[in-house]
Amino acid sequence: MPERRESSFRESVDFMFNRAVAAMDLPPGLAEKIRVCNSTYTVRFGVRLRGKLETFVGYRSVHSEHREPVKGGIRYATAVNQDEVEALAALMTYKCALVEAPFGGSKGGLCIDPRAWEESELEMITRRFAYELIKRDLINPAQNVPAPDMGTGPREMEWIADQYLRMNTTDINATACVTGKPINAGGIAGRVEATGRGVQYALREFFRHPEDVAKAGLSGMLDGKRVIVQGLGNVGFHAALFLSQEDGARVTGIIERDGALVNPLGMNVPAVRDWIVDHGGVQGCPEGEFVGNGSVVLEDDCDILVPAALEGVINEENAARIKAPLIIEAANGPVTAGADRILQEKGTVIIPDLYANAGGVTVSYFEWVKNLSHIRFGRMQRRQEEARHQLVVDELERLSADTGIGWTLSPNFKERYLRGADELELVRSGLDDTMRTSYQAIREIWESREDVPDLRMAAYLVAIGRVADGYSAKGL
Ligand code: GLU
Repeated sequence: MPERRESSFRESVDFMFNRAVAAMDLPPGLAEKIRVCNSTYTVRFGVRLRGKLETFVGYRSVHSEHREPVKGGIRYATAVNQDEVEALAALMTYKCALVEAPFGGSKGGLCIDPRAWEESELEMITRRFAYELIKRDLINPAQNVPAPDMGTGPREMEWIADQYLRMNTTDINATACVTGKPINAGGIAGRVEATGRGVQYALREFFRHPEDVAKAGLSGMLDGKRVIVQGLGNVGFHAALFLSQEDGARVTGIIERDGALVNPLGMNVPAVRDWIVDHGGVQGCPEGEFVGNGSVVLEDDCDILVPAALEGVINEENAARIKAPLIIEAANGPVTAGADRILQEKGTVIIPDLYANAGGVTVSYFEWVKNLSHIRFGRMQRRQEEARHQLVVDELERLSADTGIGWTLSPNFKERYLRGADELELVRSGLDDTMRTSYQAIREIWESREDVPDLRMAAYLVAIGRVADGYSAKGL
């Protein structure tokens, strides 16, 4: 008998979509319209490097244009392919709808090992790729706005923004053609940490609901919880950092490319990160005991498992052995549809990707708005906040005079008060608010509908419902 193949990433996303649609009452044909990926552009281009013409293959998929611009990152990895890019673009549609970022879904990718090239070479490759996409309006502030993803960051976004500006010198909104730029090039404070920060806020919100926490067989708050993180890239690093430094969680396992580190007492996350930067892997890092076969650490005993790297790491092969009662999908698609079913039967609670890692695109939305408004977040508020602070000072003086008691403010009160108008504080509070309200929308369905067994299905129901409303409003 031929062995049954595990579903691909795109099949998994389609499966989750169909499962949710079956519980909805959409007009005929609309579900199919939403599900399909509208278009995928494939480009092959050559760049002369090291005396030789190198050919690269890149993609930009547009999943749904019910809202424009469409939004989603550009990934640099050797495994990039059309199926993956389309699955990621579909997830962007649902993710944006869920957190009410007014975008359609898109995603891009380039088949490349970014570590194999020098910075100047990467710049040439990126600019050439961007040129191809800009020519076809697949990068454009009003139509399609990329962002960082695996293998790319602020540096690549700045090259893309500059390339767009060179080709569109009179576009006053040129900087809004891409998000995740460096701060000094039109970026926004808190974008680099945003996805990891969003994972932290998602967990905080989850733990504010004891009934939900009990469903995972857990109790209490985040303090003291044992966390295993897979992948200490941008997302995994920030999530692990904030959970351990701000919420008292213990990072007992870190899984990386070359193996894993375990330490039941918890590890110092920045120390591990520094070790990786200096040594290229975790082996030898004194923060924990090294385990050569890193993937077995996914199956270790812990309270919260945070897959923060590739898709499909929890699959039909290992799902039954996963002990974590709570999984938060910091990566896109880390749990396959088959594994999801197995975990579901075991009672594992999964906080799904389209919600859990939506912090990145949420803050991208703030950056895009900031670029279009041409004003720094907080600049308008600052004068108002200063005036309000003065009111507090005046009031205390009056109180002191009236009562004869010398009321004074603590020395750093003004600084703390005015911080509320800082860009970083505004971004963080906007992100926190987004993660809270989105979770509440999901859990309302999870709690109230017997036919909705998990958070993923609830999240898809919310997202698809909103996309459907978008199409209906257009008269489709
Ligand atoms: N690449 C990130 C994601 O998968 C961010 C996308 C964006 O900011 O547009 O959500």
